[in-house]
Amino acid sequence: MITLKSKREIELLAIAGNIVYQTHKYLQPYIKEGIKTIELDKLAEDFIRSNDAIPSFKGYSGFPYTLCISVNSEVVHGFPSDYVLKNGDIVSIDICACYKGYHGDSAWTYTVGEVDEEKKFLLEHTEKSLYEGLKQIKEGARIGDIGYAIESYCKDHNLGVVKELCGHGIGSHLHEAPDVPNYGKKNTGPILKEGMVIAVEPMINLGTADVYLLDDDWTVVTADQEPSAHFEHTVLITKDGYEILTKR
Ligand code: MG
Ligand code: MG
Repeated sequence: MITLKSKREIELLAIAGNIVYQTHKYLQPYIKEGIKTIELDKLAEDFIRSNDAIPSFKGYSGFPYTLCISVNSEVVHGFPSDYVLKNGDIVSIDICACYKGYHGDSAWTYTVGEVDEEKKFLLEHTEKSLYEGLKQIKEGARIGDIGYAIESYCKDHNLGVVKELCGHGIGSHLHEAPDVPNYGKKNTGPILKEGMVIAVEPMINLGTADVYLLDDDWTVVTADQEPSAHFEHTVLITKDGYEILTKR
């Protein structure tokens, strides 16, 4: 069931979204060569808790950490670990925090030191594809319009759109209806209404769109080991458009 959020719920979702944004901002200077990804996880957990929020991922379906940290060819749901970030890596950090029962969710892919031109291209156009998707949003538009815009943009740039995973409604649950795929047809799918809150999150590969799941049952990686990027915002649908609740 797709729920429309009350004014009070929207206020709490905006606070949660801002905590997620602040956590990204807090982590950014630490995302550099030499840090272990597990250290980033600890920093994020402490920061989220110091803001009276709870890391939403921790314990969600058994996920053991605060952050999903996915490096290079990892697409999403990577485990923080003893891996030490090195010059030339790209690292997707997905952050979700729960404030008074309401969730904010935003992922961003960061560069570590100097990355090659192909990775820069991937990041630039994955981020742009997110905004191409968001531009479709307003009351009366449909979920398929978002996916169509993201997929068309990525196809024009010869990038692989991951189809096994998608965005989602969000509120008092981290994942709510509707699904928000990163592909689709215009004028199809649920109709967007003022008061809906959704997370839009293209996961885009430099090479093939194909992915597979590692033995840890969480980490999704690209089939050809080419890099992948992930950009996500939680947005409120308004009469004339949308408002980003995890804005940067
Ligand atoms: Mg996320
Ligand atoms: Mg999400």
